[in-house]
Amino acid sequence: MKKKKIMAICLASFLLLFLDCSTGKTDILKTTIETKRFICHYNGNHKWPIRKTSDLLEHAYNYYKDLFQIRLPYKITVKVSNAQSPAATNHLSSDGSRIHIYFPERFGTNEKETTLIYHFFCHELLHCWLGGNVVSHAIGIEALVKFQTDIFLFENSYISKEQFQQATINGSTDPIEIRKYKNKYYDMYKNENSRYISFIKDLADKFARNKLKNNLDVLPVYKEYFGKEIEEYSPSNKSLSSKLESLPKNRPTI
Ligand SMILES: [Zn+2]
Repeated sequence: MKKKKIMAICLASFLLLFLDCSTGKTDILKTTIETKRFICHYNGNHKWPIRKTSDLLEHAYNYYKDLFQIRLPYKITVKVSNAQSPAATNHLSSDGSRIHIYFPERFGTNEKETTLIYHFFCHELLHCWLGGNVVSHAIGIEALVKFQTDIFLFENSYISKEQFQQATINGSTDPIEIRKYKNKYYDMYKNENSRYISFIKDLADKFARNKLKNNLDVLPVYKEYFGKEIEEYSPSNKSLSSKLESLPKNRPTI
């Protein structure tokens, strides 16, 4: 089997992921639907409808495509599996993207869970434009993906203004390094919106040209938009630090 390079693994806010590897079930429901941009597989009796997932992904895809003016040259495979704890990954390669989302079968029945599901799918999808190997600012990229995902969700009424502010301004559940970057992004988004748009478009252009083959140096972009003194916030959180160290040598975004 062709070994695909893991390019993006989202862990920062999806801490402590223990998958339910139970093999005792024989009645697992497997469902697949194919849409314009996605092939969605469900591997479990999830209450969250597969059509809701594909509609959300198509909506987010069109938003990101218009935002970055970049159309992905492949169809995206999305898998949803049953697990005790929610988790999300995006295995990116130059010839495709495989998004894998895990959550319990009964998940998504209250606002908190619904918001998390929205974020998981749209966050991992956004890594198709803002993802891949970087030589620095991996946490900055992760923070940007989290931030821009919440902008999409807010601008399209998936989350309320209060939820958006909680996620971006307060961000109480994020590690401090993520929050530091988010504060910078929020200031630019709010006070220099066109500059913020240019910033994320420049990053997406660089990732697209890099074709996910080599570590990308995003520092020039950060310096251009945030000044020469832009600091790469290093993980002080032991849990986050250990997860970064456990990632592959070429250090994908988290
Ligand atoms: Zn991520």
